[in-house]
Amino acid sequence: MHPKEFHTRFLLLDSPEELSGADAALLASARQAIGMSYSPYSRFKVGAAARMVSGALVQGSNQENASYPAGICAERTLLSVAATLYPGEPIDTLAITYQGEGSSDVPITPCGICRQSLSEFQARTGKPMRLILRGATGPIWVFEDAGALLPLAFGAGDL
Ligand SMILES: [Zn+2]
Repeated sequence: MHPKEFHTRFLLLDSPEELSGADAALLASARQAIGMSYSPYSRFKVGAAARMVSGALVQGSNQENASYPAGICAERTLLSVAATLYPGEPIDTLAITYQGEGSSDVPITPCGICRQSLSEFQARTGKPMRLILRGATGPIWVFEDAGALLPLAFGAGDL
């Protein structure tokens, strides 16, 4: 028997002032994308913004549906837009933020299915993507590789 362990490392920032100007602008863009959320059922609005390696910006927001499983998260909306507008181009950094009906002072992380989609997007474009996570206020979490959120990910090589 050989016990194995995973360790996840991320940066904890106290305020946007600790981000680079480009990262702060990306987080602001994600915040702005909340306004495009269609979330009449959960009233939980999520906004995302990505900076492609070329510097182009892409936004996404959650889009719900009366048939609940037909809804799609902000992250996967964004990945679809990015892959359509910039086929094959890696994402350098992805910022995700949200606004529920209550306070939003703690970062949220992508759901399980989005972690899977982020993992495959990284694999197919050949570059790890940074994640910047924040609520409306409060601390910021920065992951240097979205893959850190899904150890032992299932991927194309497993088929
Ligand atoms: Zn999700």
